[in-house]
Amino acid sequence: MALALVGLLSAGNAHAQGKTRNVVLIVTDGLRWQEVFRGAERALVSRNAGGVRDTTFTLRTFWRADVDARRRALLPFFWERIATQGTLFGNQDQGSVAAITNTRRFSYPGYNEIFTGAFDPRIDSNDYPPNPNVTVFEWLARKPAYKGKVAAIATWDAFRRIFNRERAGFDVIDSWDEPFRGAMASTPRAAMINEWYRTSVRMWENNTFDAPMHAATKEYIRQKKPRVLFVGYGETDEWAHAGMYDMVLQSAHRVDGFIRDLWDTMQAMPEYRGSTTFVITTDHGRGSGATTWRDHGEDVDGAENIWIAVLGPDTPAGGEMRTTGRVTQSQVAATLAALLGEDYLTATPGAGAPLTSVLPPASRAARR
Ligand SMILES: [Zn+2]
Repeated sequence: MALALVGLLSAGNAHAQGKTRNVVLIVTDGLRWQEVFRGAERALVSRNAGGVRDTTFTLRTFWRADVDARRRALLPFFWERIATQGTLFGNQDQGSVAAITNTRRFSYPGYNEIFTGAFDPRIDSNDYPPNPNVTVFEWLARKPAYKGKVAAIATWDAFRRIFNRERAGFDVIDSWDEPFRGAMASTPRAAMINEWYRTSVRMWENNTFDAPMHAATKEYIRQKKPRVLFVGYGETDEWAHAGMYDMVLQSAHRVDGFIRDLWDTMQAMPEYRGSTTFVITTDHGRGSGATTWRDHGEDVDGAENIWIAVLGPDTPAGGEMRTTGRVTQSQVAATLAALLGEDYLTATPGAGAPLTSVLPPASRAARR
């Protein structure tokens, strides 16, 4: 049986269907692997290097002498839940490297790599026009099984172009646009969220705050029950560019709580319970040291390093990867498809291969 299955898989390039029926890709923009795996960086909890306004409060909240306690204080869901029930790639202190393959080290090229599985050198600006490439989201949305069941909700206004909203055929809600229209705006909760979007002060004109976007995501899930969902948080990048490390830590901590909230909300719904996998990552890293921690880009060393976390019914409790293996951002698209039993790699030969270690056991055996 095992041999026959292996033959079948390699001949047909199919993926073993596991328990996953829904996937959620969550990206928090520009959150460094250093904070994920080491917690707060002591030298940056400072007025000068970190722009921290209240160092006493920030240290009390996020600083612990022990690295494990420190990262748990920052990202409790990551270290209590994902590290015990899922898999985490990218702790370079343990020899695990997760990296981007694009040379740009900024957002549009990174999201394009995440969504399509490949570096496209044509994309050289965050202002690049609508994406000529078809994302794995659009590829899935064209299949009858996913029609009307794909969506993207994010804080940054570039996503309408990165997903090519005009062409994509699924909902892309981003920036300060009110998330709910027509019949969807008629629930009290949707009306309230729209009001927050309309009335909040705009710290960034093209990027809304994470908290209302998160609330919109939950309301969207309740109303539309998507099977393939992208959620894009933006504050971890914005506060770093502003040079405010205390706000970076706060927003990372909030995102961890948002992910827990999404997980608990979806596990309480019959459509998602026991059949939903979360893939969580970032679009790029940043520099290190007293000033370059704020930045990323082609000339910033270290900004190519990221992290990837996976939690779901088919992914083993591998915990923190401690091997010398290297995984790449370009593998995310095919991994999302493979979790659903779909073969993106054959359809898109230039894409990175799925991360086999997070897939159902039959796929892992067949593709080792
Ligand atoms: Zn940035």
